[in-house]
Amino acid sequence: MSQHHRDHDEHSELSEIELRVRALETVLTEKGYVDPAALDAIVQAYETRIGPHNGARVVAKAWVDADFKRALLADASKAVGTLGHVSRVGDHLIAVENTPERHNMIVCTLCSCYPWEMLGLPPVWYKAAPYRSRAVKDPRGVLADFGVSLPKETEIRVWDSTAETRFLVLPMRPKGTEGWSEEKLAGLVTRDSMIGTGFPRDPGAPS
Ligand code: FE
Repeated sequence: MSQHHRDHDEHSELSEIELRVRALETVLTEKGYVDPAALDAIVQAYETRIGPHNGARVVAKAWVDADFKRALLADASKAVGTLGHVSRVGDHLIAVENTPERHNMIVCTLCSCYPWEMLGLPPVWYKAAPYRSRAVKDPRGVLADFGVSLPKETEIRVWDSTAETRFLVLPMRPKGTEGWSEEKLAGLVTRDSMIGTGFPRDPGAPS
């Protein structure tokens, strides 16, 4: 926020965007276009049910449960569907596994297709033209911008999402997490690690 705005907003609890959203919501409600309860339900769904914690639980389960991991890599939509707590996923969710030999990265070169049931709303950069165009042409350069460096020998494979097919990266389980519970492991799984533009958190780092 600029200094100008900060001065004016000093006594306001709401940001300019929040005020605009609120004004819009009021107009739409008064005109009878939206039901505030329905709006609240959608917002709540995005805040709680839908989000990267879904993907993180799937990844953590795959790390501890070899059968689930096999099922996930064979048919991710089906495997995720067996976990009751995760919201419905599209028909064609494909999980791609990172290994020392291959690192996977997700993009949508056409628009912004994204496994939102697993990861929530896409980050702004995911929808931005530079990411979409460079991810394919120069994946290593894009990863460097994210602070991710991989051994030269590691192949980088870029998966182009479509409206029908969404991808979820299964990152490598961090070393030093032997014996960790699924829940604790899920806490290491970042959104970016499931897009392939980051790694899971360092298990040794203070949380
Ligand atoms: Fe798209």
